Amino acid sequence: MNAPLVQITHCQEFAAAHRLHSPKLSGSENAALYGPCNNLHGHNYRFEVTVEGPVDPATGMVMNLNDLAEVMRTAVWQKVDHKNLCQDVPFLNGVITTAENLAIAFWNQISAHQARLDGAKLHRIRVVESPDNFVDYFGGAQ
Ligand SMILES: [Zn+2]
Repeated sequence: MNAPLVQITHCQEFAAAHRLHSPKLSGSENAALYGPCNNLHGHNYRFEVTVEGPVDPATGMVMNLNDLAEVMRTAVWQKVDHKNLCQDVPFLNGVITTAENLAIAFWNQISAHQARLDGAKLHRIRVVESPDNFVDYFGGAQ
C-alpha cells in the first residue's frame, strides 16, 4: 500500500505597510482602480504555508512543524514584518504588492529552502490580507 499523503500547515502573522500602485497606469487610473488602497496603509497579514508528504511511520509526522516555522521565519517573516513592502523588501522590488503577488513571491522564497522541508513538497501558500480577503497559490502557471 502506498503511504498516505497528508498536507500540513503552519501560519504566521506580520504587520506591514504598502500601497497598490501600477507603474503601467496613470495616477488617476491608479486612484480609480485601487481607491484608498492607492494610498500608503497597513495590514496585519497572516500567511500560511502548506506542505505535502507521506507520513513517516517512525515519527507519525510529514515533517517537524517547528522546522517549517523556522523556514517561514527566515525566508519570509524576518524580511517583511514591520516593513514597507513597496520599499524595504528586496524580493518584492518592482512587484505590485497585491495579496496575489505576495503569495507568488512567498512561494518563491519558501521554494528556495526546499532542501529544509525534509522531503515534503510545497503545496499551497495562503496570504490573508483581511478577515474578508485571502488568496491561495499552488505554484501553478498558464
Ligand atoms: Zn492593502
